[in-house]
Amino acid sequence: MPSQPDTCLFCRLVAEGDHVHAGDGFVAIRDINPIAETHLLVLPERHVDTFRDIDAFPDEEAGRMLRFVADTAAEAGLSDYKVLVNVGAGGGQTVFHLHWHVLGGAFHRGKLSRALELETA
Ligand code: AMP
Ligand code: ZN
Repeated sequence: MPSQPDTCLFCRLVAEGDHVHAGDGFVAIRDINPIAETHLLVLPERHVDTFRDIDAFPDEEAGRMLRFVADTAAEAGLSDYKVLVNVGAGGGQTVFHLHWHVLGGAFHRGKLSRALELETA
């Protein structure tokens, strides 16, 4: 899918260029509402709506995306961290441009459970 800077927030942020890490078709940005001490988002430069559309990536590109996620965490100085992808509205996805949350350090109280939309049955 081509870039959609007029309609997609993350396509616009990719184009604006304020990245903490970039290269190889991917960028990492700081989450505007961090739920942890370090909260980065890894996005493919080209627009893909959601992880459900993973078939939009050839295996080689999907592999490079995973490596970019790991490199982003390492460059941020993280050795222990979480990687999270919300898939679809029911999975908590609010921005429909595929992104990987990279979460490290202390979590801000209450925000992880809200982000995960945890409910007790
Ligand atoms: P998700 O709920 O998985 O779709 O995650 C979307 C994330 O994008 C949330 O953690 C938001 O805080 C973050 N976000 C929304 N707007 C911006 C923005 N302008 N810059 C950086 N992060 C943003
Ligand atoms: Zn987009």
